[in-house]
Amino acid sequence: MLFADVIVDISVKSLDRPFQYIVPEEYQDVAVVGAQVLIPFGQGDRQRQGYIVGLSTEPNYDIQKTKQIICVEKQGVVAESHLLSLAYWIKEHYGGTMNDAIKAVMPVRREVQEKLVRRVYPVVERGELLAQKEEMERKHQVARVRVLDALLSVEVSHYRDGVDYDMLIRQCKVTKAVLRGLVERGLIQIAARQLYRNPYPNIESQKTDITLNEEQQSAVQRVLWDYQAGRRYVYLLHGVTGSGKTEVYMQCIQSVIRQGQQAIVLIPEIALTYQTVNRFYERFGDRVSVMHSRLSAGERFDQYTRAKNGEIDIMIGPRSALFTPFRQLGLIIVDEEHETSYQSEMPPKYHAREVAVQRAKMLGASVILGSATPSMEAYYRASTGEYQLLELKKRAGGAVLPSVEIVDLRQELEEKNHSIFSRSLADKIRQRLKRREQTILFLNRRGYAGFVSCRKCGEVIGCSHCSVALKPHLYRGQVDRLVCHYCGYQIRMPRACPKCGSRYIGTFGLGTEQVEEMVRNQFPEARVIRMDADTTSGKEGHDKLLKSFGDGEADILVGTQMIVKGHDFPGVTLVGILAADLSLNVGDYRAAERTYQLLAQAAGRAGRADKPGEVVLQTYQPEHYSIVCAAKQDYLSFYEEELLMRRMLQYPPVSNILGVLVLSEQKQRSEALAGYLAEQMRKAEDITVLGPTEASIGKLRDVYRMVIYVKAEEYDRLCQIKNELETYLDNSERWKDCRVLFDFNN
Ligand code: ADP
Ligand code: ZN
Ligand code: ZN
Repeated sequence: MLFADVIVDISVKSLDRPFQYIVPEEYQDVAVVGAQVLIPFGQGDRQRQGYIVGLSTEPNYDIQKTKQIICVEKQGVVAESHLLSLAYWIKEHYGGTMNDAIKAVMPVRREVQEKLVRRVYPVVERGELLAQKEEMERKHQVARVRVLDALLSVEVSHYRDGVDYDMLIRQCKVTKAVLRGLVERGLIQIAARQLYRNPYPNIESQKTDITLNEEQQSAVQRVLWDYQAGRRYVYLLHGVTGSGKTEVYMQCIQSVIRQGQQAIVLIPEIALTYQTVNRFYERFGDRVSVMHSRLSAGERFDQYTRAKNGEIDIMIGPRSALFTPFRQLGLIIVDEEHETSYQSEMPPKYHAREVAVQRAKMLGASVILGSATPSMEAYYRASTGEYQLLELKKRAGGAVLPSVEIVDLRQELEEKNHSIFSRSLADKIRQRLKRREQTILFLNRRGYAGFVSCRKCGEVIGCSHCSVALKPHLYRGQVDRLVCHYCGYQIRMPRACPKCGSRYIGTFGLGTEQVEEMVRNQFPEARVIRMDADTTSGKEGHDKLLKSFGDGEADILVGTQMIVKGHDFPGVTLVGILAADLSLNVGDYRAAERTYQLLAQAAGRAGRADKPGEVVLQTYQPEHYSIVCAAKQDYLSFYEEELLMRRMLQYPPVSNILGVLVLSEQKQRSEALAGYLAEQMRKAEDITVLGPTEASIGKLRDVYRMVIYVKAEEYDRLCQIKNELETYLDNSERWKDCRVLFDFNN
């Protein structure tokens, strides 16, 4: 008899273990590890889905009481066993259930028929088609003429892309026979093509004429040398913006592919623009595919299958592309590895960078993490030798880094300038308008209205026990209390600045909309585009606005961090950062790191082409190291300063931190459980327990949230703590109404 261990598709912690089932005769061939099954489960034997995670010939229980699998699902994609191991690793490292983890590693779980779209392509050159059309006009073949007219009406640059088959039939009111006739005459071709495949079927993969510079070459050689010798490492490619990191990726990929292996390129969703993807298409043609959130289920399934069948060698995409089932994965690239979007916000709350390293380890692949502003984690590991550091210090193609001027906004206020534009920035904007060059105004809006500061001296009201800003808590629309989200310390909203006594204190509130309005007031002649979550519905809108700015249809682009990635704007010679410190005081130990990253990336947008760029960085805290270092694009000084802070306060990457989130529909219950758990944990001497305190979102969908932070030197120690807490909660009747979630190093 054959028995299967099945993980049931229910994300409830108490059911998060395999249940054994009997595999009926007829399914013994297809019941493999990773297969999806239907099973009877629980009271009344409700039909449920599940995944086989193990097989054996030994029963665990009384066979009489063991139930049978209903069937193995025909349409279910079978998970590769290493992906199941990876799911287990994710569950162990980040908490959550095995079911959630399996779903994460299997972004495609169902076979879905792919949707075919037929297109009509011209087979001959435009001139030839035009001549043929004129010929037909003379012969009064009006139906054929209509078809050729439609093909010729396409913009010249898209002539080769053809026209949608169904649309052509409808618009030209012709029969299929007419099209067949044109095919027979060798003028057109009808091809079934998946919408999402290479959208430029006529771009042949081409040799580019870029010769790598010395720095790029030595990075590539280092990776490939190791690769040939069978050494698989994690590399951190630290290269300033525009230093040609993408060229390095592509060279390494090319070499890996030539040896019959495949590559995954992770790019944050926001940077997954037409421009970025197109560079890969141009280089690798049809061997590339893209996974992203706009694909339908059928399209995803098709991508997945093509990867599995070896029809493609490169998969590009955000987080979920990491789980592409290639046969022989040789290389994983994580571009912009510092990006926060690599951290999943849903359980399992995994970090794609860490999971990439783990998957590579399991399969014997190399990893390249790339960034102009590496995460503290990545750089720390590079400095300890866990990762290999590769550096690109110069901009490729000879462009120089922009010059940066720091403007002290306190000084502006003192000199009675109440505008959001310093005098220097306003002058420079006027110059650009005169010279018909472009400007980006960047509002660093993370933590919008997220802290209270003094407009006179710049003091930010912070916690006395942690180096974070206190968060304003509103009561009847007024700021009532200020609270530390790390240790729970709180004070009443003060009436005057505790440092200088000024009454000009308040929450910092400035949105892109106001900025746009002020630009229109102060520079009425300028054409302005605003870009933020409100003006860009979906990524199409995002691409469209960026394109029109890139085409010179506006003088000034106003936006949030959205505007800093994935696009080259050769016309931009001025970047104004309106309030650099907005992200500095968000009550998060990563605030300085995020600020440095945002500023350095924003500054990197100026002067990419032949014209040198300028950056004006306005701030209330001109002496803060993240601002000073970003202005100089001096990553190393920033890193060292920040590492001291992390060391002092025991934060990652030096130490590790576990957030224990305690949820209940009743406030006092979540407080009681959080209090109890904290008390228990405090008995251990090798960890530091902070809190409990209200979570940064204290109530979410009517559930109250308390949080406890636990710091330990070793990550594994925190995993152990997590497991102990889970075991306690699973076996305790007392807290059935509460739920506990975990958050590692976030
Ligand atoms: P990064 O990814 O580091 O921001 P990119 O790879 O996008 O940099 O390169 C920036 C620009 O420099 C691109 O337009 C690219 O084509 C160009 N470039 C890269 N490497 C070279 C090179 N060796 N010679 C000339 N131009 C280059
Ligand atoms: Zn003050
Ligand atoms: Zn505190």
